[in-house]
Amino acid sequence: MINLISDTVTKPSKEMLQAMMAAEVGDDVFGEDPTINLLQEKAADMFGKEAALFCPSGTMTNQIAIKTHTQPLDEMICDHYSHVYQYETGGFAFNSGISVALIKGTNGKITADQVEAAIKQDYDWLPKSSLVVLENTCNKGGGSYYTLDEIAPIKKLCKEKELKLHLDGARLFNALVETKESTQEVGNMFDTISICLSKGLGAPVGSLLIGSASFIKQARRFRKVMGGGMRQAGYLAAAGLYALKNNVERLKIDNNRAKRIGALLEGLKFVKSVEPVKSNIVIFNLADGLTAEGVLELLKSEGIIASAFGPTTIRFVFHLDISEKMMEDLVINLEKLNPVV
Ligand SMILES: *Cc1c(COP(=O)(O)O)cnc(C)c1O
Repeated sequence: MINLISDTVTKPSKEMLQAMMAAEVGDDVFGEDPTINLLQEKAADMFGKEAALFCPSGTMTNQIAIKTHTQPLDEMICDHYSHVYQYETGGFAFNSGISVALIKGTNGKITADQVEAAIKQDYDWLPKSSLVVLENTCNKGGGSYYTLDEIAPIKKLCKEKELKLHLDGARLFNALVETKESTQEVGNMFDTISICLSKGLGAPVGSLLIGSASFIKQARRFRKVMGGGMRQAGYLAAAGLYALKNNVERLKIDNNRAKRIGALLEGLKFVKSVEPVKSNIVIFNLADGLTAEGVLELLKSEGIIASAFGPTTIRFVFHLDISEKMMEDLVINLEKLNPVV
């Protein structure tokens, strides 16, 4: 099976499993798991921040960040494609009692001017703008990414207007292998950063929330109340340490494969258009008369599975469990795919 549904489908490699089995563990609710402590210190250092918090998922790290940065009746500002708005079950309202100001950006990316226009004036009858969330890379935006030059004016604005700036960096490293920018520079731009270990980095479970010591102290309380305080989770943190050491640079392979398949799809009859391919995600629209359901069914009969991203749109995500042989099979099968309209 060639599984292009998401980069979350990766399974731990033998080497990663060995690292997990060898982990030293303790009770992390008491702060006594040495492997988790090491992972948190390493992540904080990478981004030039004081502290970090290991959590079960990227949804939890984002939700804790929103909760910690806001008060009920506040408002967060983000692109309308954002994961925090689209795919976290409306948690910003449920967990934090806040509203959202949505910006229609370009492929999931927003500008300082757009943020400025979304900031509310200080009236009793308006929610209080207090947080901006950027996503890098942008999932629903087709894997588009920001450069630091694009983020800097947003950071400057947030500082002037006293808004917090959080990065949903679930796939941040897919962007950094393209831009060659450093994690230190990214750390300098944001108050807080969330990264996922269980996407392209290949760990089975886990995300990290990174920020100041006082922020993380409060975030720990929210992690506990959300039920995210785990005990001997150092076995999972060991997978994260292995992933950060071994699986970051190779993300360039996934990005290149996505670009190669994007270029191939451009020339195929059953494809109407391909969204710009910037990292490891390819989103493409089907020729008139075809449905995502129908084309996915045909692909499935050739052993290729992927997800619909709309009635006539399909998404492919490339990751470390795709081999060169699978790439060859994928190319052959796409070239010969000739769906009947
Ligand atoms: C996957 C993802 C998350 C977190 O998802 P979990 O499945 O909860 O770990 C957050 N933001 C973006 C952009 C993502 O793609």
